[in-house]
Amino acid sequence: MKQTLVDFINDTIGLRLSQLVAIADDIWDHPETRFVENYSAGLLAGVLEAEGFQVERGIAGIDTAFVASVGNGKPVVALLGEFDALAGLSQQAGCTFQSAVEDGANGHGCGHNLLGTAALGGVLAIKAWLEQHPQSGTIRFYGCPGEEGGSGKTFMARDGVFDDVDAALTWHPETFSGMFCNQTLANIQVAFSFKGIAAHAASAPHLGRSALDAVTLMNTGANFLREHIIPEARLHYAVTNAGGSSPNVVQADAEVLYLIRAPQVDEAQAIYERVVKIAQGAALMTETTLTVRFGKACSNYVPNRTLEQAMYGFVQAFGVPEYDAQERIFAQEMYRTFSREDIASNMANMARTGGEAGTAFCRSLSGKVLTDCVAPYAPSRELLSGSTDVGDVSWLVPTAQCFSPCFVVGTPLHTWQTVSQGRTSIAHKGMFLAAKVMSATALTLFTDSELLRQCQQELQQQRQDIPYRCPIPAEITPSALKG
Ligand SMILES: [Zn+2]
Repeated sequence: MKQTLVDFINDTIGLRLSQLVAIADDIWDHPETRFVENYSAGLLAGVLEAEGFQVERGIAGIDTAFVASVGNGKPVVALLGEFDALAGLSQQAGCTFQSAVEDGANGHGCGHNLLGTAALGGVLAIKAWLEQHPQSGTIRFYGCPGEEGGSGKTFMARDGVFDDVDAALTWHPETFSGMFCNQTLANIQVAFSFKGIAAHAASAPHLGRSALDAVTLMNTGANFLREHIIPEARLHYAVTNAGGSSPNVVQADAEVLYLIRAPQVDEAQAIYERVVKIAQGAALMTETTLTVRFGKACSNYVPNRTLEQAMYGFVQAFGVPEYDAQERIFAQEMYRTFSREDIASNMANMARTGGEAGTAFCRSLSGKVLTDCVAPYAPSRELLSGSTDVGDVSWLVPTAQCFSPCFVVGTPLHTWQTVSQGRTSIAHKGMFLAAKVMSATALTLFTDSELLRQCQQELQQQRQDIPYRCPIPAEITPSALKG
């Protein structure tokens, strides 16, 4: 059965390779940041519509969020596709030195041009299978904008667009083939701005009310708070407005940006509420007024081991891509641009997904610039210190994510090197692989209702009756976060 499925997917995706490359490259050529991804979202939604999907645009109050569906009834399986870029990362494709296409312009520094396109390839293959097996269920492509600093999926989760979904699959471009199996931290970013009264700091200090004093007192309070929060939590702040550069003026405006992280979303929320009280206290002490401005938030990622194992079976079944001499030469040249720290950090990420075997796997890669075998998979409770808005989906729906090799070993994400590689044949091969793994896993969910039931049961156990509470306050709309 598995081999038949693998052959079917290989054949079906095989017919789409040039189409997928054209779409991924077109998105790369039009890098757009959070919630203004009009070209990229329009391109993906347009292709899906032309392929016979029913497309609903502008969901969850976000212009560039959409859902495309095909099929009938249950189960409903979702592939999540991202397509946003990063500001200031413009870089020529396939170039092994830093050279912008346009200085200061955007660039696809996280490979999301590949991410969304692979999900598109995946749903197209599933549609071909559903045509042969009608009444098997519904496949959906969720166009998920603003992953970078916008938490698009968190807004979408708040709006209930995943409520009738039975399982969700996604992936992320990386330097290796394996599973995304670590928990991530929940986070909340929020700005505290204080307004006081300006005055001459020498002749009339009694008339001034210092916003900078409020920021200082708030930070002092938060630093005392640290002793009384769980040790896994993190509080970071940056003073984004110190009120000016004149010490002889009582600063009337000042702002500090806080990032609060914790393993569980309710823990982050509890700390957030305490930080707000500290800010209110600082305002009270200084007779300034406080405005709390929400930045972004996402929930921790809840891994689903049952679904991960099913997906990993296909990661192994499809294996790693083969590379030609030209790709190897390019990879060697690119590898030389990485620092020792870049490479060590990438190795640590790889090792984290595979336990003891993961460390051995990384050692075996020493000296290789392109991955040549699948990374081991050994789920652990180890935390990945970052955050992702896939976390919010994973609270609602059994979710699994794989990594697919799109970049040279050692490539740090969010850099010119990632942008450069995102429009190369190496990246395209990783994208095809991800499309295959996601579609094969989805098809298994359509044919194996017991597997789906076990995935859902595991999610219930993981959540331990904790209801999903969206970390974005109800009054915050995505339009406030555009660009
Ligand atoms: Zn990313």
